[in-house]
Amino acid sequence: MAVPMTFLKEEVQKLKEEGLYTNIRTIDGPQGAWVNIEGKKYLNMCSNNYLGLCSEPRLVSRVKDLVDRFGVGPGAVRTIAGTLSIHVELEQKLAEFKGTEASALVQSGFCANLAAIPALVGKNDLIFSDELNHASIIDGSRLSGAKIVRFRHSDHDNLALKLEEYKDQHCKKLVVTDGVFSMDGDIAPLPALVDVAQRYGAMIMVDDAHGEGVLGRGGRGIVDHFGLHGRVDVEVGTLSKAFGVVGGFIAGSMDLVEFMRQKARPNLFSSALTVPDVAACLASVEILQESDELVTRLWDNGKYLKEELKKLGFNTGNSETPITPVIIGEEIAAKKFSSRLFDEGIFAGPIAFPTVPRGTARIRVMVSAGHSRKDLDFAVGKFAAVGRDLEIIA
Ligand SMILES: *Cc1c(COP(=O)(O)O)cnc(C)c1O
Repeated sequence: MAVPMTFLKEEVQKLKEEGLYTNIRTIDGPQGAWVNIEGKKYLNMCSNNYLGLCSEPRLVSRVKDLVDRFGVGPGAVRTIAGTLSIHVELEQKLAEFKGTEASALVQSGFCANLAAIPALVGKNDLIFSDELNHASIIDGSRLSGAKIVRFRHSDHDNLALKLEEYKDQHCKKLVVTDGVFSMDGDIAPLPALVDVAQRYGAMIMVDDAHGEGVLGRGGRGIVDHFGLHGRVDVEVGTLSKAFGVVGGFIAGSMDLVEFMRQKARPNLFSSALTVPDVAACLASVEILQESDELVTRLWDNGKYLKEELKKLGFNTGNSETPITPVIIGEEIAAKKFSSRLFDEGIFAGPIAFPTVPRGTARIRVMVSAGHSRKDLDFAVGKFAAVGRDLEIIA
């Protein structure tokens, strides 16, 4: 007789054999340019802490202040008793920062897609989705029950072809794309996608998770980067990457946000963000509003690192942002590279299937405004040594 739970061990074992098992490291101390792992210091090259805000003292002190005044938990979902004045304040600040009429907070960026997509479209509708969209867009799309039509990565002509194919179907149509594709660092051709979507009467939605705090003036995101204010129907964002905390939001017109507040299920059935989360995010947005210093430093660091790794002969793909993929190929080889780097004091985890297509396993190097030039030179030296040793570069 088969024991019903034996598949658990078997499937994990299979992951190990295929080199797809993730070794999860535990960081003992604050997230930063250097982190403490098992009693040793490592240069951190794989977090989304783009601006170094995760442990920024201004965030910490705002948390302490607001926890003293508001306590910790929201005690309810937003629609029942969980809306605190600080939630409303953060929503207004985010809308102002992004240049939209309004915004609605949810619990995470992942959750924002699960919230927004099924609220916008349903069973008899159509979603046109870039083939490399983030898992949360895929899951939100599936949850909606709408038919999902994939278009070729960043290909507006292919999108037009698909929309043409369905032009006689009179239902709601939603075009959705990542803003910055997180595994390659390329930017969606949003102006062209917006034009095509509008030509066919489709809604357009962008997930700006890796664009916020990175692209546009002072990190105002992809819509600002392309000067598309007022032309993108739905923007989804995260507070967990450049903002350095946790949370997600949906931004757009007042009508959109009002609709989401009433309809989006995570807003109705899952409790609000906690006071410390909101407090820290308030400080993050203020820091970004005051100065573009951190964003500028992030881009300088990204350019420097990318150039140095390219000079060494690494395949850094076609990133247009500070995200720097070092593409290795085989899953096992990427794992080995990462583990050798770790021995040398560099924390840069491997990324493999299903996060990226099979055979394109990589180290996705993430720079931060928190890295000094000396840190980056240290990393480059180690990448060179290990890369030569493993014959990834000559
Ligand atoms: C990281 C990411 C998310 C998830 O954001 P969280 O706030 O961490 O849940 C969603 N969409 C994209 C495109 C992302 O890169």
